Amino acid sequence: MEPWFDDVDDRPRDAAFFVESALDDLQCADVDLNRYEARRSARIADAVALARRNPEVYVHHTTDKDAVDQAVRAAVFDIALRLRCSEDYVRGVLFTAEQAMAHLPLLWQQARDGFVSMYLVGRTVGALARVRADVGASEEELDLEREAMRLIDQAASEWALSCPPAAFARRLRTLVDRLDPIGAAERHGRKVRERRVVVHEDEDGMSWFMAYIPTIEAIAAKRRLTSAAKHLQKHPDECRTRDQIRADLCSEWLRGIGTDKAVKTKIFVTIPIELLAAEREACRAAARQAELVGHGPIDPLTAKQLFLDAKAFRRVIIDPIRSVVVDMDRRSRRATQAQREWLILQHGTCARDGCNRLAQDADIDHKTPWASGGKTDINELRPLCPRDHVHRHLTRAIYRSRPDNSVQVITPTGHESKPTPHAPVTAPPF
Ligand SMILES: [Zn+2]
Repeated sequence: MEPWFDDVDDRPRDAAFFVESALDDLQCADVDLNRYEARRSARIADAVALARRNPEVYVHHTTDKDAVDQAVRAAVFDIALRLRCSEDYVRGVLFTAEQAMAHLPLLWQQARDGFVSMYLVGRTVGALARVRADVGASEEELDLEREAMRLIDQAASEWALSCPPAAFARRLRTLVDRLDPIGAAERHGRKVRERRVVVHEDEDGMSWFMAYIPTIEAIAAKRRLTSAAKHLQKHPDECRTRDQIRADLCSEWLRGIGTDKAVKTKIFVTIPIELLAAEREACRAAARQAELVGHGPIDPLTAKQLFLDAKAFRRVIIDPIRSVVVDMDRRSRRATQAQREWLILQHGTCARDGCNRLAQDADIDHKTPWASGGKTDINELRPLCPRDHVHRHLTRAIYRSRPDNSVQVITPTGHESKPTPHAPVTAPPF
């Protein structure tokens, strides 16, 4: 019998067809999985809602004041037994489903249709907590809460279709920080007070000290931090806790502060001018947020501090190219430092749709390869992370730049990546 790939001319076409069919099948399975997961969550919510309306199914005395709560707890217990999972898990799924049904109609419908995973629905429900009005809020505050939730639903339902989970989570965080910028500053301040050094012991004599190193070294490092912290605490003016001092020392030592080996690194931050205004109201009204380029938003207070601390402040914030030579034509294959910095500011991350690796660590790729006559012109350059850069040149995947400089990838089986939408730039209503 002749093998199917006997005809060399046909082989690539047939093989591509089989790979494509397998991948189509996989995508269908994924939609089914999402749809069933949403359906399962909805059934849990339905069952609990029925128990709430008909507590007599679960409890003896329906006139007791907490009869409904008891019935709900009993229903959750019932479900956990049937699904062979913990009650905490059922409560988690229940909360997500109830919140999504009540506040995220667009996203919930997409989950029901199979286009969005319950994981992303859960992340979005988690974000709602940040914009929730306090108990006893005024009608006006409740209106703001509803409007914020509507914005979150609208944005999340758009991003869920085009962003991988990490990018989705980052965008969601950016949006919520924008809706609640003062909250972001307060949260940051609270978290800063909690700074500490944690050593987590792992197996096989290894430990996590942010770095995975032998336990013996991790213990020695933490001891050195502790004894230096103890020493500093003897000073009468010292008011930091030992945890805080250890964390401060760890950060200073690694950055080489106070030594001649201090490494000079650039950290790119964009700060909208309006954020530098002192008034809280101006902060709230700012349509844009300060961003640690490629990482996401930072709270307005930290941004202001960075602005004040910067020794030589370069106005690259809103109009980054002014007074910078960017067109190098064919004189040099390598991008100039100014071109590189502009690309970092413009892209933040690798230019390929959905890739989160930092532009700061990326290779500078010529849209038209240098070898084929491509120019080292700012409009001809794009940051691609080393993995994408290799992929672009070694595989049949096509990396196509769009007019907005984002990069679409077309896989050899014909899949075309979608652009990652930008966060809405309209100012929130407060
Ligand atoms: Zn990449």
